[in-house]
Amino acid sequence: SDLKSVDLHEGINSTLVLLRNTIPTNVQIVRDFDELPKVECYAGKLNQVFLNIINNAINAIKTKPEQGNEQLTITTRKVDANTVSIGIRDTGIGMSEKVKEKIFEPFFTTKDVGEGTGLGLSIVFSIIEKHHGKIVVESTPGKGSEFIIYLPLNITNN
Ligand code: ADP
Ligand code: MG
Repeated sequence: SDLKSVDLHEGINSTLVLLRNTIPTNVQIVRDFDELPKVECYAGKLNQVFLNIINNAINAIKTKPEQGNEQLTITTRKVDANTVSIGIRDTGIGMSEKVKEKIFEPFFTTKDVGEGTGLGLSIVFSIIEKHHGKIVVESTPGKGSEFIIYLPLNITNN
C-alpha cells in the first residue's frame, strides 16, 4: 500500500458503517471531531486499525453484564503542528493492569476459543509503528477503556 493524504474522519465513518449491524441499540455513538488537516498514511492499513479497535470496544460493551446506556466515543484532536490524535473510548468491561500489559502481544486474548485470535491489537501496534505514531491505553475495570492514537501529519518529515 502507498502513502496517501486522507481525511481521517472519512475512515472512521466508513468503519462505523461497516460495523453498524454489530452495534446494539443501547450503544450511543458519539463523534467529538476536531477540524483536522489531512494525514499522510497507508489508508487501508489505518482503516484496519480503526476496525480492530472499534470492534474490540463494541465487544467490551456487549460483554458487560449490566447493560445500560452505553457509549462509544470517538474523539479527534489536532495536538500540535505535526500531530493529530484519535481517541476511541468505550463504557465496556475494562481491563485489569495484568491484561493491559499483554494486549499488544500476538495471540494474547481473553476471549473464548473461536471468538478471538488475539491478533487484532498486535496488528494495530505494527501499523501505528509503520506510521511513526504512538498508541496509549487507559482502562478501568468495570468502567471502560480508551485507546488513543497519535499520528504525525507527515511521515516523510519525521
Ligand atoms: P482479540 O480481540 O482477538 O481477543 P485483540 O488483540 O484485538 O485480540 O485484543 C486482545 C485482548 O485485549 C482482548 O482479548 C481483550 O482482553 C483486550 N481488549 C482489547 N480491547 C479492549 C477493550 N476495548 N476493552 C476491554 N478489553 C479489551
Ligand atoms: Mg480484537
